[in-house]
Amino acid sequence: MLIVQHYDSSFMELERILETIEGYREEMVETLVEFCRIPALGPTSGGDGELEKAKWLQHKLESFGFYVERCDGKDQRVSTGIRPNLIVNWGEGNNRLWIFSHIDIVPPGDLKKWSHNPFDPVVKDGKIFGRGVEDNGQACIASLFALKALKEFEIKTRRPLSCTWVSDEETGSYYGVQHILREGLVKKGDWVLAPDRGNPKGNQIEIAEKNILWLKFTIFGKQAHGSTPHKGNNAHRTGADLIVHLDRILHQKFKAKDTLFDPPVSTFEPTMKEANVPNVNTIPGEDVFYFDCRLLPQYKNKDVLAIVREQVRTMQKKYRVKISLEIPQNESSPSTSADSPVVEALSKAIVKVRKVKPRVRGVGGGTVAAYFRRKGIDSVVWETNEETAHTINEYITNSNNEEIACNTITFPSSFYF
Ligand SMILES: [Zn+2]
Repeated sequence: MLIVQHYDSSFMELERILETIEGYREEMVETLVEFCRIPALGPTSGGDGELEKAKWLQHKLESFGFYVERCDGKDQRVSTGIRPNLIVNWGEGNNRLWIFSHIDIVPPGDLKKWSHNPFDPVVKDGKIFGRGVEDNGQACIASLFALKALKEFEIKTRRPLSCTWVSDEETGSYYGVQHILREGLVKKGDWVLAPDRGNPKGNQIEIAEKNILWLKFTIFGKQAHGSTPHKGNNAHRTGADLIVHLDRILHQKFKAKDTLFDPPVSTFEPTMKEANVPNVNTIPGEDVFYFDCRLLPQYKNKDVLAIVREQVRTMQKKYRVKISLEIPQNESSPSTSADSPVVEALSKAIVKVRKVKPRVRGVGGGTVAAYFRRKGIDSVVWETNEETAHTINEYITNSNNEEIACNTITFPSSFYF
């Protein structure tokens, strides 16, 4: 068993590993293409789950000589009743590094707009096109080949490693990451890396998320003929006035800036509007609209809600209507400190392998890291990608062997040595 202790020798070792991984290149591309031929959509995306894809991956891992542990969620909405989660452990003991990739995908959208069949990935002009190649196929395959390299060089990592391939990331994580947390597998003192968001340079480490607050407003007025508005009470007018007021007041009251985030401010956006009346000449008796609020972590969701409720009361009086407020989502997420050891270790690895200077950043919200941070577990989100997740003609580049190979080795390289 090889245990490298000094920086110089470990650096030479790293060069050898990188060369070896370069040699995996064709095999990695083929494996990714085969992997992405198998759709894996959750039931709320109109699919039948991830089991077929997980079985394929498990078989692959076993053919590389790994023992695969399963921690499956149970879900009667899919025909098999199973939402599979795969784990391969490398090394024993506590203080593990977990790498969470997800095998499920989002639907391809309008097939006519794709230049290729999204479920038969095409390698062309140094790129690989297909649904799920970036999000999150490349990370799934990267972990697989990172393990292969560890085995080939018989490397004992500083921290024991758990590579994990989960279901249900795109539709709430209840049967994936949250299930693994409920089972108590990830513990305080462990580190988590989710290679599921990044940029083409590979120099961004996500350590924080804005709080998410979704608001649904329903205005109850009185329907009437379009020519006799005085006989009704136009719910749409109240709704429009409320939108304008909320937009102004929320931006005024919560105007702090934090350059960790892009944009550096809290955002308050009126988004979905439900249909009210189907014809022009009817005064709407009911009006429904939504706000999507993303708050800088220094603010509390409850303080926004207090202002919103005050505005609702004012509008109820002003227009003599009833307004109901529902809260479809209300999540706040603590940040991982920029000085935390996991950030330091990953930064070192990025400098060594990618030869770029990393920087920490925050995002608008919605990564699996939040579930771990709420449990006090330091978590980072990082990968190198083209930011094509969820788009038509999703792709990754393969031109200079950076995407897959460097992602593969960068994750654990700082933990190798
Ligand atoms: Zn993803």
